[in-house]
Amino acid sequence: MKVTEHIQKAKGKTQFSFEILPPLKGQNIQAIFDSIEPLLEFEPPFIDVTYHREEYEYKAASNDLWEKRVVRKRPGTVGICSAIQSKFKIDAIPHILCGGFSKEDTENFLIDLDFLGIDNVVALRGDAVKNETYFKAESKGNKYASELVTQISDLNRGKYLDPELENSNQTNFCIGVAGYPEKHMEAPNLDTDLKYLKQKIDQGASYIITQLFFDNAKFFEFVEKCRAIGITVPIIPGLKPLVSLNQLSIIPQRFNVDLPDALVNEVLKAKNNQEIKEIGMAWCAEQTKELIQADMPIVHYYSMGKADTIKKIITQATL
Ligand code: FAD
Repeated sequence: MKVTEHIQKAKGKTQFSFEILPPLKGQNIQAIFDSIEPLLEFEPPFIDVTYHREEYEYKAASNDLWEKRVVRKRPGTVGICSAIQSKFKIDAIPHILCGGFSKEDTENFLIDLDFLGIDNVVALRGDAVKNETYFKAESKGNKYASELVTQISDLNRGKYLDPELENSNQTNFCIGVAGYPEKHMEAPNLDTDLKYLKQKIDQGASYIITQLFFDNAKFFEFVEKCRAIGITVPIIPGLKPLVSLNQLSIIPQRFNVDLPDALVNEVLKAKNNQEIKEIGMAWCAEQTKELIQADMPIVHYYSMGKADTIKKIITQATL
């Protein structure tokens, strides 16, 4: 079922969805199932599975030379989506990237998803490959998420890359895109970023999932700004609890988000890691409570295998 249909069906009740990442190459899928099972009691409308592109590694070779190797450390996004749908009968949503994909690769990827009965995709640009400063698209690939959305929308109308493929199968993907309440790290300012977000919607995206944030006021302002420029699709807030001291610097750096003073001060006063985790979970539960009171259709958690933590947060928020 499409995300938009899940929202309509819930008739105003807030639902909880989750995002997981594929296991490292060499591990099996059981860890994924184990990280979903504790969350089933919340009847998630969908589970997102992230996509991880190739990375370059330099390994010592013979003759004192270094060999550049291309590795994908977390393959399996499509297989995991299919396994989740078949085992749990829950919609699984693969993330799909511009980075590392030619348009031809993208088309073939989408055809696989269509054949597997996947109804939703989240269309993203992806980040620069490790060791590169800027994102570089493939020479025959999509440069921005908006272009990827256009390609998926084209396929939804039966328009394939080969113009000779007339009257072809039309896919029916519901397309989600990323939004950034505190702006994307490369955007010159929030208004410019919002203009490009609107472009993704105009090209056919049906909902937005936000980057994680710790200050609900920033999310509510973002929603207001989106509505003011004519973005009417559902905006799903994305949350992740802070659980360790080093995240005080890692989170702002990696996700371009501010951590509120009150949260930082509490964390700095904590005596040990367990206390920090409790503080982070309580903060995330308060954020959840407020988002439920604000009638959010869905609250999305970057659960990333930490099912027990997320379970405690939702339980605390819904007491
Ligand atoms: P875009 O929407 O293309 O925007 C990228 C930048 O370009 C922004 O600064 C925007 O303002 C600017 N821009 C957009 N259009 C134009 C234009 N026409 N001209 C000039 N500038 C423009 N990464 C992964 O590798 N795998 C994942 O599974 C994954 N999942 C994610 C899920 C969510 C909910 C979020 C929020 C992020 C996720 N990411 C993932 C990270 C994401 O790939 C990065 O944040 C990436 O840098 C931007 O992706 P985007 O789709 O927002 O890009």
